[in-house]
Amino acid sequence: MRKTYIAGNWKMNKTKSEAVELAKSLVVALKDGKYKYMIAPSFTNLDAVGQIINGSNIILGAQNMSTDESGAHTGEVSVLMLKDLGVKTVILGHSERRHIYGEDDLMINKKVKLALKHGLEVILCIGELIEEREAGKAEIVCEQQTRDGLSGVSEEELKNVTIAYEPVWAIGTGKTATPEDAQAIHEYIRKIISNMYSADAAEKILIQYGGSMNAGNAEALLAQKDIDGGLIGGASLSVEKFEPICKVK
Ligand code: PEP
Repeated sequence: MRKTYIAGNWKMNKTKSEAVELAKSLVVALKDGKYKYMIAPSFTNLDAVGQIINGSNIILGAQNMSTDESGAHTGEVSVLMLKDLGVKTVILGHSERRHIYGEDDLMINKKVKLALKHGLEVILCIGELIEEREAGKAEIVCEQQTRDGLSGVSEEELKNVTIAYEPVWAIGTGKTATPEDAQAIHEYIRKIISNMYSADAAEKILIQYGGSMNAGNAEALLAQKDIDGGLIGGASLSVEKFEPICKVK
């Protein structure tokens, strides 16, 4: 039985005081929640938010990290720095990293392997553009991103990986994949994992949906048999919007 996993990606939002306030409210609001919870503030707020959620049932996530451990990489943040702040998981391959900042599957795979090597959990984001969906290529794009993102990752390491299916056209747009369309891709990804690893690995891996998930559509999405949680952007920025998603079903 897979445990539902709800994660909030705060993106480039919240000053330090705003982030601390939201984290404090979430600790209270989610303390009796029965799912796995994660919040990913900006790098500059990781330390402060980490101190607030320390000892709670919410884990600390980062939104990205460097391909390298240290050295001449101006503006980048290393896996070692994240671990030092108590980060437990890192979101990699987010569509904004892929499409605004030009990260490709090779670079994402390098980050995935580095994070896993250092014992971080990874949320690997995959998802097709609207043109790719309209051309009937959603499955092939998601398959390629999954295979390339996980290249060289062992079945043992895969235990620390969650996949987030995030159709790019649904992120921050208010358009959500129908539960049936999302389920079809989730089922397909699980098959790919079975082919790459084993039926057991496929049965165990968590696959989140992301893309304009909110209190109104979360229940129908999470009711699908292969949707194991959500990666939430906009609706994770207030306790009023995030709490109901964290408590659906
Ligand atoms: C995201 O950025 O991962 C996301 C799903 O954003 P939103 O919920 O705002 O669509």
